[in-house]
Amino acid sequence: MRKNEMKLEFDSRSCNEGFARVAVAAFLTQLNPTLEEVADVKTAVSEAVTNVIIHAYDREEEKVLVHCWIEDETLWIEVIDHGRGIADVAQAMEPLYTTGGEERSGLGFSVMESFTDRLRVVSHKGRGTVVTMEKYIMLRERQARQD
Ligand code: ATP
Ligand code: MG
Repeated sequence: MRKNEMKLEFDSRSCNEGFARVAVAAFLTQLNPTLEEVADVKTAVSEAVTNVIIHAYDREEEKVLVHCWIEDETLWIEVIDHGRGIADVAQAMEPLYTTGGEERSGLGFSVMESFTDRLRVVSHKGRGTVVTMEKYIMLRERQARQD
Protein backbone atom coordinates (compact mmCIF):
# COMPACT_ATOMS: atom_id res chain seq x y z
CA MET A 1 0.00 0.00 0.00
CA ARG A 2 1.20 3.45 -0.89
CA LYS A 3 0.75 5.90 2.02
CA ASN A 4 1.93 9.45 2.61
CA GLU A 5 0.85 11.99 5.21
CA MET A 6 1.15 15.70 6.04
CA LYS A 7 -0.18 18.14 8.65
CA LEU A 8 -0.54 21.90 8.60
CA GLU A 9 -1.39 24.19 11.50
CA PHE A 10 -2.03 27.88 10.99
CA ASP A 11 -3.84 30.90 12.43
CA SER A 12 -7.54 31.30 11.77
CA ARG A 13 -7.06 34.32 9.47
CA SER A 14 -8.76 34.71 6.11
CA CYS A 15 -5.39 35.38 4.43
CA ASN A 16 -4.41 31.77 5.26
CA GLU A 17 -7.28 30.20 3.31
CA GLY A 18 -5.33 30.53 0.03
CA PHE A 19 -2.23 29.07 1.66
CA ALA A 20 -4.14 25.96 2.83
CA ARG A 21 -5.78 25.45 -0.55
CA VAL A 22 -2.48 25.67 -2.46
CA ALA A 23 -0.60 23.53 0.08
CA VAL A 24 -3.10 20.68 -0.24
CA ALA A 25 -3.02 21.01 -4.04
CA ALA A 26 0.80 20.79 -3.94
CA PHE A 27 0.64 17.68 -1.76
CA LEU A 28 -1.79 16.12 -4.21
CA THR A 29 0.53 16.50 -7.23
CA GLN A 30 2.24 13.16 -6.38
CA LEU A 31 -0.91 11.40 -7.65
CA ASN A 32 -0.56 13.17 -10.99
CA PRO A 33 -4.09 14.63 -10.89
CA THR A 34 -5.90 16.39 -13.71
CA LEU A 35 -6.45 20.15 -13.48
CA GLU A 36 -10.09 19.43 -12.79
CA GLU A 37 -9.28 17.12 -9.87
CA VAL A 38 -6.94 19.77 -8.44
CA ALA A 39 -9.62 22.44 -8.82
CA ASP A 40 -12.19 20.22 -7.07
CA VAL A 41 -9.88 19.64 -4.10
CA LYS A 42 -8.95 23.32 -3.85
CA THR A 43 -12.61 24.32 -3.82
CA ALA A 44 -13.49 21.77 -1.12
CA VAL A 45 -10.52 22.77 1.08
CA SER A 46 -11.37 26.42 0.62
CA GLU A 47 -14.95 25.88 1.86
CA ALA A 48 -13.90 23.82 4.89
CA VAL A 49 -11.13 26.20 5.96
CA THR A 50 -13.32 29.26 5.39
CA ASN A 51 -15.95 27.71 7.65
CA VAL A 52 -13.43 27.43 10.48
CA ILE A 53 -12.26 31.01 9.98
CA ILE A 54 -15.80 32.40 9.78
CA HIS A 55 -17.80 30.21 12.15
CA ALA A 56 -15.57 28.31 14.58
CA TYR A 57 -13.63 31.01 16.38
CA ASP A 58 -13.90 34.59 17.61
CA ARG A 59 -10.14 35.12 17.69
CA GLU A 60 -7.77 34.98 14.71
CA GLU A 61 -4.98 33.51 16.88
CA GLU A 62 -6.89 30.23 17.24
CA LYS A 63 -5.55 27.38 15.13
CA VAL A 64 -6.83 25.59 12.04
CA LEU A 65 -5.47 22.11 11.42
CA VAL A 66 -5.35 20.48 8.00
CA HIS A 67 -4.33 16.85 8.01
CA CYS A 68 -3.96 15.04 4.69
CA TRP A 69 -2.94 11.60 3.71
CA ILE A 70 -2.83 9.57 0.56
CA GLU A 71 -3.64 5.88 0.53
CA ASP A 72 -3.26 4.31 -2.87
CA GLU A 73 -5.35 6.55 -5.18
CA THR A 74 -7.37 8.29 -2.46
CA LEU A 75 -6.62 11.66 -0.90
CA TRP A 76 -8.06 12.16 2.58
CA ILE A 77 -8.42 15.66 3.97
CA GLU A 78 -9.31 16.46 7.56
CA VAL A 79 -10.00 20.06 8.53
CA ILE A 80 -10.04 20.34 12.31
CA ASP A 81 -10.88 23.10 14.75
CA HIS A 82 -11.40 23.32 18.49
CA GLY A 83 -13.95 26.09 18.27
CA ARG A 84 -17.63 26.50 19.06
CA GLY A 85 -18.81 23.31 17.34
CA ILE A 86 -22.10 22.63 15.56
CA ALA A 87 -25.19 21.73 17.62
CA ASP A 88 -27.07 20.00 14.79
CA VAL A 89 -24.77 18.72 12.05
CA ALA A 90 -27.56 17.34 9.83
CA GLN A 91 -29.27 20.73 9.82
CA ALA A 92 -25.98 22.58 9.19
CA MET A 93 -25.32 20.36 6.17
CA GLU A 94 -28.67 21.14 4.54
CA PRO A 95 -28.32 23.30 1.42
CA LEU A 96 -29.01 26.99 2.15
CA TYR A 97 -28.85 26.57 5.95
CA THR A 98 -26.63 29.28 7.40
CA THR A 99 -26.08 31.07 10.68
CA GLY A 100 -23.98 33.61 8.80
CA GLY A 101 -26.77 36.02 7.87
CA GLU A 102 -27.14 37.81 4.56
CA GLU A 103 -23.46 37.57 3.66
CA ARG A 104 -23.41 33.76 3.42
CA SER A 105 -25.38 31.45 1.18
CA GLY A 106 -25.30 28.25 3.26
CA LEU A 107 -23.85 26.20 0.43
CA GLY A 108 -20.38 25.36 1.76
CA PHE A 109 -21.16 21.79 2.82
CA SER A 110 -23.09 21.15 -0.42
CA VAL A 111 -20.05 22.29 -2.40
CA MET A 112 -17.72 20.03 -0.36
CA GLU A 113 -20.11 17.13 -0.94
CA SER A 114 -20.31 17.62 -4.68
CA PHE A 115 -16.57 18.23 -5.26
CA THR A 116 -15.36 15.21 -3.27
CA ASP A 117 -16.33 11.53 -3.12
CA ARG A 118 -17.20 11.44 0.57
CA LEU A 119 -17.85 14.01 3.27
CA ARG A 120 -18.20 13.35 6.98
CA VAL A 121 -18.72 15.95 9.68
CA VAL A 122 -18.26 15.21 13.37
CA SER A 123 -18.83 18.05 15.80
CA HIS A 124 -19.37 18.62 19.51
CA LYS A 125 -20.84 21.85 20.81
CA GLY A 126 -18.15 23.90 22.53
CA ARG A 127 -15.40 21.44 21.59
CA GLY A 128 -14.92 21.77 17.85
CA THR A 129 -15.45 20.15 14.49
CA VAL A 130 -13.72 17.63 12.24
CA VAL A 131 -14.60 17.69 8.55
CA THR A 132 -13.27 14.67 6.66
CA MET A 133 -13.29 14.49 2.88
CA GLU A 134 -12.16 11.75 0.53
CA LYS A 135 -11.22 12.35 -3.07
CA TYR A 136 -10.45 9.52 -5.43
CA ILE A 137 -7.83 10.44 -8.04
CA MET A 138 -7.97 8.41 -11.22
CA LEU A 139 -4.87 6.26 -11.59
CA ARG A 140 -2.80 7.29 -14.58
CA GLU A 141 0.77 7.02 -15.75
CA ARG A 142 3.05 8.72 -13.21
CA GLN A 143 5.74 10.97 -14.64
CA ALA A 144 9.21 9.44 -14.57
CA ARG A 145 11.16 10.74 -11.57
CA GLN A 146 13.88 13.19 -12.48
CA ASP A 147 15.91 12.78 -9.27
P1 ATP B 1 -21.31 29.65 2.65
O1 ATP B 1 -20.35 28.50 2.89
O2 ATP B 1 -22.21 29.38 1.49
O3 ATP B 1 -20.63 30.96 2.62
P2 ATP B 1 -22.15 28.95 5.30
O4 ATP B 1 -20.71 28.89 5.71
O5 ATP B 1 -23.10 29.50 6.30
O6 ATP B 1 -22.30 29.74 3.93
P3 ATP B 1 -21.98 26.09 5.14
O7 ATP B 1 -20.55 26.16 4.82
O8 ATP B 1 -22.81 25.07 4.44
O9 ATP B 1 -22.68 27.48 4.89
O10 ATP B 1 -22.14 25.87 6.72
C1 ATP B 1 -23.45 25.83 7.30
C2 ATP B 1 -23.44 26.25 8.76
O11 ATP B 1 -22.71 25.29 9.54
C3 ATP B 1 -22.75 27.57 9.03
O12 ATP B 1 -23.60 28.67 8.81
C4 ATP B 1 -22.36 27.43 10.51
O13 ATP B 1 -23.48 27.68 11.35
C5 ATP B 1 -22.06 25.94 10.62
N1 ATP B 1 -20.62 25.62 10.55
C6 ATP B 1 -19.94 25.17 9.47
N2 ATP B 1 -18.66 24.90 9.75
C7 ATP B 1 -18.49 25.21 11.06
C8 ATP B 1 -17.39 25.14 11.97
N3 ATP B 1 -16.17 24.70 11.58
N4 ATP B 1 -17.60 25.52 13.26
C9 ATP B 1 -18.81 25.97 13.67
N5 ATP B 1 -19.89 26.05 12.86
C10 ATP B 1 -19.74 25.67 11.57
MG1 MG C 1 -19.32 27.90 4.54
